[in-house]
Amino acid sequence: MARVTLDDEVKYLKGVGPQRAQTLAARSIRTVGDLLYYTPFRYEDRTRLASVRELLPGQTVTILVKVIHCGLTRTRKGVYLYDLAGRDTSGPTSGGMIRCKWFNATYLEREKIFREGQRVFFYGKVEQDRYGTGNLVMVQPRYEILPDSGEGNGSSLEIGRITPIYEAIGNVSTAMLRRIIWNAFPAADGHIPECLPASVLRKNRLMERRTALRETHFPCQVQLLDQLARFRTPAQTRMIFEEFFNVGVAMALRRKHTQWLPGIQLKITEGVRKAIKQILPFHPTTAQKRVLKEIAGDMTSPQPMGRLLQGDVGSGKTIVALEAAVLAIENGCQVAIMAPTEILATQHYLYSKQLLAPLPYRVGLLVSGRATREKKQLKNDLASGALNLVVGTHALLEPDVEFARLALVIVDEQHRFGVAQRHELIRKGSAPHVLVMTATPIPRTFALAAYGDLDFSVIDEMPPNRTPVATRVFAERDRAQAFEFIRRKVRDGEQAYAVYPLVEESTRLDLRPAVQMYEHFSRNVFPEFRVGLLHGRLTGAEKEAAMRSFRAGETQVLVSTTVVEVGVDVPNATVMLVEHAERFGLAQLHQLRGRIGRGAGKSYCLLLAGEPRSEVADERLRVMAETCDGFRIAEMDFKLRGPGEFLGTRQWGIPAFRIANLLRDQEILEWARQEASTFVDHPESPEELAAFTRSLRAGWPERYSLARVG
Ligand code: ADP
Ligand code: MG
Repeated sequence: MARVTLDDEVKYLKGVGPQRAQTLAARSIRTVGDLLYYTPFRYEDRTRLASVRELLPGQTVTILVKVIHCGLTRTRKGVYLYDLAGRDTSGPTSGGMIRCKWFNATYLEREKIFREGQRVFFYGKVEQDRYGTGNLVMVQPRYEILPDSGEGNGSSLEIGRITPIYEAIGNVSTAMLRRIIWNAFPAADGHIPECLPASVLRKNRLMERRTALRETHFPCQVQLLDQLARFRTPAQTRMIFEEFFNVGVAMALRRKHTQWLPGIQLKITEGVRKAIKQILPFHPTTAQKRVLKEIAGDMTSPQPMGRLLQGDVGSGKTIVALEAAVLAIENGCQVAIMAPTEILATQHYLYSKQLLAPLPYRVGLLVSGRATREKKQLKNDLASGALNLVVGTHALLEPDVEFARLALVIVDEQHRFGVAQRHELIRKGSAPHVLVMTATPIPRTFALAAYGDLDFSVIDEMPPNRTPVATRVFAERDRAQAFEFIRRKVRDGEQAYAVYPLVEESTRLDLRPAVQMYEHFSRNVFPEFRVGLLHGRLTGAEKEAAMRSFRAGETQVLVSTTVVEVGVDVPNATVMLVEHAERFGLAQLHQLRGRIGRGAGKSYCLLLAGEPRSEVADERLRVMAETCDGFRIAEMDFKLRGPGEFLGTRQWGIPAFRIANLLRDQEILEWARQEASTFVDHPESPEELAAFTRSLRAGWPERYSLARVG
């Protein structure tokens, strides 16, 4: 057999031609190493196949049967049904018959998946056939067809063992993956070098990489079944540890690097205290005071601050950030605030200007929508130091944006920016202090994985006099009732949002429903009110005008897309209508609802739910009606979405783990992180640390950006 190394392309492996290689590449599997790190998401115990004769309804089992007959039929109600009858041909209790059914599965017929005489594994739940006969049946079971090769017990990979189940990649099925990976091991054997430092391996008694990889794919010890399902066999544990350790070392290196940077050590003078007092329109909450103290502590120390500020929507993060800004500006430095959307940037800009009005500061707004001349002037003022505070979007990252003395970078709603973008802005200063703000309640494991290089602060208290937003779900037929409610409130002098979901706001076509809704509202539903429209495709000036007019109370009902989702703050707006609420995710609904309930008045959220909708959508709406607690909602969100989809989303800026799972592997994360810090801060041998750092940098170019410092 041809030898391969982990760095060789997969196409050199047995069973992988150029075509399959291309399919695999779509999942970022390019090298043999990538393939071996594509691990099973579940295992089936096929050491003991169930005997069909002994099956009981309710059991979930794997069986091996011979296809007796199969084909497409139609039920009396006209539904297509693919029906298969199989006979157990193995073992002493053979002969039992079972049926398998698939509804609407015309593809099974069209693609001639099953043939008489084939031997097939079925995995699924056994039920009593509801339609007469009293036979046992499996409805839509998973299946795997054995290759034709003779009688016997099939190939050793499929049965008589614990079988790894892979997520199929395009038309490369779980069975093919299993075969390809199986064949890869002898080819790569002897070329799977250890990658963890020897001292770490020894100290933590971890299995060596070569064995761990093999046993993660092809576990052999039956007694480990329960451990296997929990991903806690020594092999799996080692692989999960490895992933977390790598990220942990990257973070620890960045943290250490930052500690050695000469930060901008600011001073809290009498002037600073006075200035802060002047801008505060209210008494800060205890949580706000505590967090400001943590931030000020960092900014007055010799090292640059790196801090994540977490707080539910409406908890008052902005004011704390502006207090930090005052500290920097009073020390003769500049501050940059970066927000993910023009609307949010504009909002922050207007709010900062208003709040900082008592102080002689110059504040600017930099978004790409502005006129070139204005931008040029702004950039000049930033470079000369004439401007004290700039608020902006990605436009701040443009290469010709330069600062005279940037001391504080504030990034709002961080999960919308990548780590790389955060660092681009940081590089515009010389080791500035960094404050990252997010309203998304992040579970501890996620926070550690995504922001392990930062310190955490939490505002866990709402400003006083907030009453939770009353939320109610309206069915389509109660639409008129919902409108009447809004009419009453607006007549009383309050303001309302009406939010419409859009898939994308990239084209005019996508926008049509929102624009139509605006026209419908202004002409037919609320002709007596002033209705405004806000969406992502408006020019910067148009957005600013729309926001300003709503804030001033000129616009009474603002029809908007989800661009209002983050940060927008108009306390007099007490009503929110969400169209097609069933299409939104929980986190998004929570963010949206956070736009109301910001003043002293009681606020109301009306969720219009269209049909049809899934059970999960119903559950989401129920959760929204039940609670306003961001942490509870986040928790439910994880549960409803499941870790798979959750981790698939890049929006968290969390590195994509291949084996590790942040929900499942919390304790391994903490352990690996601890070991990583120790390894970096107190290495047994500096050579070992240097060598590991080098290999991390080389092997993980894109993830290593984690450890690249501003
Ligand atoms: P976040 O950015 O955390 O979602 P904001 O900073 O926008 O929240 O604050 C939400 C609202 O609460 C704003 O109108 C703000 O002026 C107000 N607010 C913040 N802190 C306090 C406080 N301590 N007392 C009263 N109102 C506050
Ligand atoms: Mg905010």
